[in-house]
Amino acid sequence: MIKIGMPRALLYYWYGLAWKTFLQEIGLTPLISGPTGKTILNAGVKAAVDEVCLPVKVFLGHSLELITQCEALLIPRFVSICKNEYICPKFMGLPEMTRQAVGKNQLLIWKSEKNCFWGSIKALPQEISTGYKRKTIKKGLKKAEEVLTEYHRLLQRGLLPMEAEVTLLKGITPRTEKSSRSIGLIGHPYCLYDSYLNLDTIDLLRNKGFKVLVPEMFSRRQLEIELADLSKPLFWTLGQRILGSFRLMWKQGVEGVIYLSAFACGPEALIGELVKKEGKAVGMPLLQLDLDEHSGEAGVITRMEAFLDLLSRKRRYNCV
Ligand code: SF4
Repeated sequence: MIKIGMPRALLYYWYGLAWKTFLQEIGLTPLISGPTGKTILNAGVKAAVDEVCLPVKVFLGHSLELITQCEALLIPRFVSICKNEYICPKFMGLPEMTRQAVGKNQLLIWKSEKNCFWGSIKALPQEISTGYKRKTIKKGLKKAEEVLTEYHRLLQRGLLPMEAEVTLLKGITPRTEKSSRSIGLIGHPYCLYDSYLNLDTIDLLRNKGFKVLVPEMFSRRQLEIELADLSKPLFWTLGQRILGSFRLMWKQGVEGVIYLSAFACGPEALIGELVKKEGKAVGMPLLQLDLDEHSGEAGVITRMEAFLDLLSRKRRYNCV
């Protein structure tokens, strides 16, 4: 059994299940790292250069956790996953950064370049595209694509990535939240769904009685329509999702929006300003929290609770 390590970080939250399905279909054994914790974070911080953003440090920590248990690591090198749009340059250099951290171990690089999207044989690691029969590869890609489509369908039905994964793998569908109060949570998927990094934000909001809306609940088409009026299209795919879903959440009447941004993220410096400007224009209560390796209760939870108090007061005041 050849074990292939898959770090539970970065775009694992979008493509992880499909990658896993593909590897299984062609006869490899995917090994996914456990949830982020202190050891993983510290290892990533130690392995990365200071200037790198927090999510990449986390990715390196997961890679280091896996490397002793598997024969190779599956690492994405993403440039563009949508036509005329780009992914942040850190994704382009991910294999080199990982190589620096894990040494001579084998990396399988899953590419995505212009006009070479998910599902294409050209995108596959060379070791796989040349080492397996075309029929086996095509069958694996087809199955993975089916899983990916179903995964997105579940996300758009309101399930969170971890819930959609459980539904697909175990057939257990979680109860859907029923609440008269709703709140938006925006940010990159690896900030929103890594509960160690964000100190369990989603659970905290749900426990306070909020239905939580996240960017993955909106389809690409909805986002495109929503952002059609921008004088200059945003060319960051992840940034588009943040701004578009912020607008859609406002239209759906959320009480406020929490923006979880990553410390040292270049693209978010721009998107954060756009979100703040639009939030101010429509009077949407907005809390932006920068996550970094030192995020602690005082910095995140206390500010979040103060923000939720403010929303409750605003609601009471409007009802009087
Ligand atoms: S978009 Fe920001 S947080 Fe994500 S990898 Fe790039 S710099 Fe890091």
